[in-house]
Amino acid sequence: MLRFAPSPTGDMHIGNLRVALFNALLSRQRNEPLIIRIEDTDKERNIEGKDKEILQILALFGIEYGDVIYQSNNLRFHRAMAIQLLQEKKAFNCFCTPEELDRKRELAKEQKKPFRYDDACTHLPPEATIDNENPFTVRLKRPDAPITVEDIIKGEATFDPMDIDSFIILRAEKYPTYNFACAIDDMLGDISLVIRGEDHFSNTSKQIAIRNALGYDKKVEYAHLPIILNDEGKKMSKRDNASSVKWMLEEGFLPEAIANYLILIGNKTPEEVFTMAEAVAWFDFKNISRAPARFSIDKLRHINREHLRRMEDKELSRYVGFADDSIGRLAKLYLEEASTTKELKAKVAAVFAPKEIPDEFAESAAAIRAAIKAAPYFEAFDDLKQHVVDATGIKGKQLFKSLRLLLTGAEHGPELADVYVQIKSYLGEIVK
Ligand code: GLU
Repeated sequence: MLRFAPSPTGDMHIGNLRVALFNALLSRQRNEPLIIRIEDTDKERNIEGKDKEILQILALFGIEYGDVIYQSNNLRFHRAMAIQLLQEKKAFNCFCTPEELDRKRELAKEQKKPFRYDDACTHLPPEATIDNENPFTVRLKRPDAPITVEDIIKGEATFDPMDIDSFIILRAEKYPTYNFACAIDDMLGDISLVIRGEDHFSNTSKQIAIRNALGYDKKVEYAHLPIILNDEGKKMSKRDNASSVKWMLEEGFLPEAIANYLILIGNKTPEEVFTMAEAVAWFDFKNISRAPARFSIDKLRHINREHLRRMEDKELSRYVGFADDSIGRLAKLYLEEASTTKELKAKVAAVFAPKEIPDEFAESAAAIRAAIKAAPYFEAFDDLKQHVVDATGIKGKQLFKSLRLLLTGAEHGPELADVYVQIKSYLGEIVK
């Protein structure tokens, strides 16, 4: 069983989408179900409606999943297991106030030491805790021995008990922390493979510590995907437009191209352009680089263009606002200069829009327009051209530029004869 566990706290980042895609890929390859777990226990950060938005994006990318679970529904299990750990003395109540802890954190910073819990409440006798009316958190006692995380991509790493620390598992308001809820839910969900971002790597040692304390010894496999860097070599952040899945879709990148690109970066693949179904056949974690992946919008454009080229004419036609194959073929002629559906839509729209003709060609264009309106259909481009020459006497640059402007709304573009083949049945409408 695999899981994708997004937090409904903001717009979906491409890093999250990438994690979702790899989960979908492995779920199909291993023929094991993928569940979606909405991690909504951090009430303050949840944003209404983001859960639905995430599910819509997954659907758009063709990601198939089984159950959708809301983490907050498991609250009673999280609390029950915290009580079990307290009873077994593997956890303890901590009455340190946030202010006290902040002070100690500052002190550690001044001394240039990492902040570690100082065991202020680790050994309080029961009578000191039972009558204490101050708010308290629950901490897991730091493990006795180091914990080794085995990762399919990153290899092995061993974490020292001091670094794992006696960390909080239930907050003062008695909601679980991310690590606690996640460890328990992965356990309850019988998750066998966790794929997530590298930023969670050290959390894994804490989650294993929790499961060890609860006596769960079933092995979970981990694959932490290296982070994605922008073209300046910095971690992709909200400030990078391309980090937002919504932005990419609005810009006219196809879901299948975005998916292709996010699986391609930082990976050695047999092809550069592929579908998810193809990737299921050959994907292997051993080809994923341990180094960060580099995001390049130019490369994404290239991949998008290739998917557009391969798209059925009719489908592409729908993307640019039409219904018939010929407009899909017309759009494909523009793939040299355009690489997104948004750009193609603008090119096709210019063909059908009222034309603005520069002064230099205004006179010729008016005469040519009149000639075409008088006979608005020719099977071949050469016949149209001949008709225009015969009717107007215009030749050379004036003829070609005016004709191009009238037919396409632009001074430059694909071979006019090729364009003509796709638009000839609309000629009257186009030169109106
Ligand atoms: N909610 C966490 C996130 O979105 C989940 C991490 C995980 O997969 O465990 O980063």
